[in-house]
Amino acid sequence: MATKNKKKKKKKNKQKFSKLQFAVLIRTVLPMLVMGVAIIVAGTMSAAASLQQEVYRSLGAAGSAVASSLDEMYPGDYQLIKGDGIAYLIKGRKELTGDFSFIDRIAKDSGMEVSLIYGDGRFVTTLKDENGDRYIGSGVHPNIVREMSEKQKTLNYRSEIGRGQIFYVAYVPLYNSDGSQVGMIGTAVSEAMVRSEVTAAARPIWIITILGMLVASFISIRYTNRIISAIRSMHKFLSRMVMGRLNNEMDESVLKRRDEIGATGESIVRMQNAVRVLVECDPLTTLYNRRSGDAKLKALLRKAAQTGAPFCVALGDIDFFKKVNDTYGHDAGDAVLKFVSAAMKDLVNGRGFAVRWGGEEFFLVFEEMGLIEVAAAIENFLEAIRASVVHHGGQSIRFTMSVGLVEGDPTRDAQEMTKEADEKLYYAKEHGRDQLVVTPGEEQPSYRDLLKQEQESDRNETLITFSDEFLDSENLMQLLSENALKEMEEQDGKDRKDGDENG
Ligand code: GH3
Ligand code: MG
Ligand code: MG
Repeated sequence: MATKNKKKKKKKNKQKFSKLQFAVLIRTVLPMLVMGVAIIVAGTMSAAASLQQEVYRSLGAAGSAVASSLDEMYPGDYQLIKGDGIAYLIKGRKELTGDFSFIDRIAKDSGMEVSLIYGDGRFVTTLKDENGDRYIGSGVHPNIVREMSEKQKTLNYRSEIGRGQIFYVAYVPLYNSDGSQVGMIGTAVSEAMVRSEVTAAARPIWIITILGMLVASFISIRYTNRIISAIRSMHKFLSRMVMGRLNNEMDESVLKRRDEIGATGESIVRMQNAVRVLVECDPLTTLYNRRSGDAKLKALLRKAAQTGAPFCVALGDIDFFKKVNDTYGHDAGDAVLKFVSAAMKDLVNGRGFAVRWGGEEFFLVFEEMGLIEVAAAIENFLEAIRASVVHHGGQSIRFTMSVGLVEGDPTRDAQEMTKEADEKLYYAKEHGRDQLVVTPGEEQPSYRDLLKQEQESDRNETLITFSDEFLDSENLMQLLSENALKEMEEQDGKDRKDGDENG
């Protein structure tokens, strides 16, 4: 059941997370993707356009080269001689029909198809159909023939030759000596070949763009993930705070950030501290208020029940405080309260806490301290209070305090112990004030003297223990050698570590 709930919660979190993630992705990765696709399309198109131009230029150049080679090899005019139903194409004194060696060699060297066209028919060609038969006698489209006779310059076409095959073709005009245009040299490459060249030319653009897109997306996703997780941490922190958990700890990763998110995290932590002070502390004295003091005492009782550590609780009250107010004014009374509070913070410093229990009544808790130690400290405190003077508005105020002290017992409840402390405080008030009461009805001993005696006897005990041990010289030698061995081992370890660090 518990795991099921957990799973459910996890799923919910994940959903929340992906919503924000999705929103960020839409705004970062999607534009990048669109741009990537645009770069690929534009890059490929421009590669195709420039390659197409290049193809036409080299087709035209090859056609011209073929035409001038023919002029050089076979000076004279092109002439068509018809007989026996067959037509022969003659150049100068050479019969061109039937001799493919020249154009086949050119086709082989350049990868182009070459055709010699006279009038509107192919008389010599490297173009073959699917059976391997040359397209001899096949016609060139009348539009091309007409355009050539009109313009008399190299023409470029993308046209279908034979059955379904698309070619890029350049037609170069052929002239006889009287200047009449009698035919054309057609040079062609298949579109499939051009396309594969375009692909090869555009491939680096694709690869670079896709890689760039992947890297940019990866960086963007990682970065936004970090931001989102920081935002979620802050959200969790605030939610816990709203539920009243004021000793929440902010995620280290948020506070480590050196940006606005890190600053926001710090502000939230400061806000929590401010709220905690408002909720837990008394505004005049900045001591804990009664409510948080109660909670802290209960927590201490739980802890002490586990650890068994000693503790003490005390109630203190300023003597004749009403008189202070009446004589020096309410503000002077406040100044005395502040002074006493600061002194009490000092008294419990790091070993407990001080609470403003009521108007001029204070509750003190001493952690991990025994009765005698605490009582001696309170005696010192009362003596210091007795000797101190609070200066306010040109007036010097002297006052005293009474305290009731109870030795802590984790098996008793907090209220019971507080009540006992209150009774002892009352006893102190009834019996002359300006004193500490630990045992009502008895004469109060000097706890400072008792503490001194206790410490003295502790020291003696340690001395005896030591002397007992050291009486036996063999034992002493063993102890010393054990210590020396331990020290040597520690030094060895340290040296090794240093060596590792330096090497
Ligand atoms: P006792 O020795 O028996 O304790 O005498 P007391 O005069 O100190 O006690 P009493 O309870 O008669 O008077 C307490 C006074 O403390 C009355 C109240 O006006 C004053 N007081 C309570 N809270 C504040 C405070 O915040 N500021 C000031 N200036 N006075 C306060
Ligand atoms: Mg009082
Ligand atoms: Mg009082």
